[in-house]
Amino acid sequence: MRISRSTGLRAIPAWLLVAVAALSTPLPASQSSSWLDAYRDPAARLIAESLSSAFAWERLAFLGDTFGHRLSGSEGLEHAIEWALAEMKNDGLDNVRAEPVKVPHWVRGQESAEITFPHRSPLAMLGLGNSVGTPAGGIEAEVLVVRSFAELDASGDRARGRIVLLNVPFTTYGETVQYRTAGPSRAAALGARAMLIRAVGPPGLRTPHTGALRYAEGTPQIPAAAISVEDAERLQRMQNRGTKVRVRLEMEARFLPDADSANVIGEIRGRERPDEVVVVGGHFDSWDVGTGSTDDGGGCIVTWEALRLMKKLNLRPRRTVRLVLFTNEENGLAGGRAYLDRYRSQLGHHVLMLESDSGVFRPTGFGFSGSASARETILQIASLLRGIQADRIGPSGGGADIGPSVEAGQLPAMSLEVEGNYFLIHHTQADTVDKIDPADMAKASAAIAVMAYVVADMPERLK
Ligand SMILES: [Zn+2]
Repeated sequence: MRISRSTGLRAIPAWLLVAVAALSTPLPASQSSSWLDAYRDPAARLIAESLSSAFAWERLAFLGDTFGHRLSGSEGLEHAIEWALAEMKNDGLDNVRAEPVKVPHWVRGQESAEITFPHRSPLAMLGLGNSVGTPAGGIEAEVLVVRSFAELDASGDRARGRIVLLNVPFTTYGETVQYRTAGPSRAAALGARAMLIRAVGPPGLRTPHTGALRYAEGTPQIPAAAISVEDAERLQRMQNRGTKVRVRLEMEARFLPDADSANVIGEIRGRERPDEVVVVGGHFDSWDVGTGSTDDGGGCIVTWEALRLMKKLNLRPRRTVRLVLFTNEENGLAGGRAYLDRYRSQLGHHVLMLESDSGVFRPTGFGFSGSASARETILQIASLLRGIQADRIGPSGGGADIGPSVEAGQLPAMSLEVEGNYFLIHHTQADTVDKIDPADMAKASAAIAVMAYVVADMPERLK
């Protein structure tokens, strides 16, 4: 992981910026196509403008430093939404608006876990999102450690009355996260009183990762929390030695009534075909740990930058570019669903949807899902990003928030792709802006700006 030294980009000399801009333009003659030639100059200008300052990083730092985390239902999220509306207007974006969305309001409250026998010792823990709490005074029980669902199911009656720890080593997020989402109900079905899970992420520095669980219908809802890799391995070693270990888990987690929130929208209105829309965005809510700077404040800011940069350079594309900061991705997806509900009849005019929600580390390009001919066009546009090494187009693109609309409208979908240790800090107290390099954010912003601008402006609609 790179720790930013925050040297800022303002110190970069003008000649270097010109050189970088120039690098982004040449293409072998055999690959050049005349329609693309018209975009070499605007692309170079967007890239140079983005790389000329640390504006995106400074805006992200301000967001996290000022409002803290942005869990659905929190004051931090709602104040950040008001700030974003005002800032989008300051940027000169068109049709800036908040579109109301009701969101679940889960609160963590006080929480702790400790070994009580054979010797008292605190555990580094974070309750899982949407978990129920424990009764006052907590739940104290003997721990059963298992390495997999198979081992859990084979444990027969030994889970009954226990606190089950799923000590599953991290492989990929997609593979390991099922233990977090489904684990609590799998343990409850065997009579467990509470569930602990080894943090879903690569080994860190005693850092538990939160994230949503999903209770199954017809199974008792038991409290569930993540503990650090170090603590999980300690409990595993103790069990392997034959030591009977008791743990007490105390959690005040609960749901309050649904809260008012909103998707925040700003646009660069198209000059010729304003009804045709290219959507870019991320989710503005976060977990209630750290400041949600990589997940997903950074994704919101770099997609927002695409519009700010166009406005700054007076580039108004043929079609509309719409920025959407979705609310409530983490524990509900209400924002993504509300967008579909509101725009269902207009999906036919959605040209492309692009989401950035994998962190804003060094950008390598985009994932893309769409037709073969659309992919060919996207590959050509991406060649404009060769100078900042963000020209790779991966086999599939999309995102949680754009997912409902992309599926309903069978729309082309993109996602920013980056190289960085996203899952090390994902959903942890360590998700803060200092893990992000201002130069990476400037490149990510430039890449999205070029892609969104050309797709929104090119003579032929993406097909
Ligand atoms: Zn996210």
